[in-house]
Formats: sequence, structure tokens, C-alpha cells
Amino acid sequence: MNKKNELIYEGKAKKVFTHDDLDKVKIEFKDDATAFNALKKAKYEGKGKLNCLISAKIFRTLIEKNIPTHFIELENQNTMIAKKIKVIPLEIVLRNIAFGSLCKQTTIKPRTPLSKPLIDIYLKNDELNDPLITKDRIELMNILSSKDLDFIIDLTLKINLILKSFFKNIQLQLVDFKLEFGFDIKNNILLGDEISPDNCRLWDLNQKNDTIVSLDKDLFRNDLGGLIEAYSEINRRINEFLETN
Ligand code: UDP
Repeated sequence: MNKKNELIYEGKAKKVFTHDDLDKVKIEFKDDATAFNALKKAKYEGKGKLNCLISAKIFRTLIEKNIPTHFIELENQNTMIAKKIKVIPLEIVLRNIAFGSLCKQTTIKPRTPLSKPLIDIYLKNDELNDPLITKDRIELMNILSSKDLDFIIDLTLKINLILKSFFKNIQLQLVDFKLEFGFDIKNNILLGDEISPDNCRLWDLNQKNDTIVSLDKDLFRNDLGGLIEAYSEINRRINEFLETN
């Protein structure tokens, strides 16, 4: 990183630095993995680079389909240049198939296909352990207006359609994913953060029998091993698809 670029923020998986252009930032992807509100931690050499490369390719695909995102370009293999945004403290989770916390908090059985996508919104707050939050509470806390929240929900549903088909093309089933949004300097709402196997559940469709083969962070959450191999395989499949299409 250039000496002039100062660290603005360090999160669990990324570092954000200033850019010479005040309306841009540099985002460096780290090799750290965390789960369960950082109670579980590990380092995987090469994860930052893989997530950065995968995210960049997905952001480009979304931008081509007119989804507003913070992504501008890659600076190097584990750093992207992005528009500076004020991050909205919400985690927008969209689920196509029931799994994870949905099945722990309800009576819905794991692997139940959902007849329509379910959007669950969590407050991004480590001290409170990212609680599930309601639309009324979001308004009450002055986090977002009802109109802006509706815009984000609509954008998330559109992103789901694009991502589902993107991943299907590389023989992956998009079970669920988490998005974060922010406001740019002109107050436009942009998709921020990353889209990678760290925040999507992706199951291999090449599987012949009924077992779930996860190519995502569940490998770390559940101590299954093979995380770098799985993320590399996703990156390989994306490259192969993009080269031939
Ligand atoms: N997720 C995430 N960050 C979080 C919580 C969830 O990226 O802090 C993603 C997770 O990878 C999955 C989706 O959001 O793709 C739904 O996660 P869920 O609520 O089921 O929580 P989990 O089972 O991971 O605790």
C-alpha cells in the first residue's frame, strides 16, 4: 500500500485505506476468517486474494446489469478501488433455501426450498450480536427511511436473480447470501462490501447423491477443511465460464 494511503478502518476480513481521490477508497482483503461474531478465528493464506478476485468479477457482472455498486477496479489481486460510501449498519440476508440461522430460530427444516425469496434484516452491531430487526425498528432508529429500505429490498431481489443465474452457470446453487449497502457522496444507495464465498452459501450442483457439498465459509464454520481448495475452484469455474461466454 502507498505510504500516503492511511488506514481508515480495519474490519474482520478487510482493511479500508484512503485514496488520493477523496471520493474513493482502497479495500484490501485479508486472509483472516471469523465466524460466530468472531468467537472463532483462523487465517487461510490466499483467501483475501481469492475473495477479492471473485468479488470483482461478480461486481462487474452486476454493474453490466445496471446494479449500482461501489466497485471501480482492481488495484492488485487483493485490493480493490471503490467509491467511498457511508455504510448503512444493516446486513441484508436473502434466502432461497432454508439453512443456517433460519432453521435454528424457526421450525423450518434445513434444505426446504422457499416458495419466494425470504429477506431477513440484521442490525450490524457486534455488541448486540447482530440481532434480527424489523422495518419499524429500522425507521425508529432513523437508520433508513421506509422508501430507502424498500429500494434496498427491491435491489436485493434483483441481485438475487442475477446471482442465481451467475452461479447456476458454474454449477453452484445459491442457497443464501448477505449484502451491505451504503450512501455515496451524492447520497445514492450503492451495493458495498463483497460478494464471495465468505458471505454466500454455495452448494455444488455437480454432486450426484444427496449430500451437501459446500463451497463456502460453512467449511470453516463446521471445521470441514478444504476452504482454499473450494474458493479456488469457484474462482476457476468463474474464469472458465467468462472465457467461453
Ligand atoms: N452471513 C454473513 N455474515 C454474517 C452472517 C451471515 O455473511 O455475519 C451470510 C452467511 O454466509 C450466509 C447468509 O448470510 O450465506 C445467512 O446466514 P445465516 O443467517 O443463516 O447465519 P449463520 O448460519 O451463518 O450463522
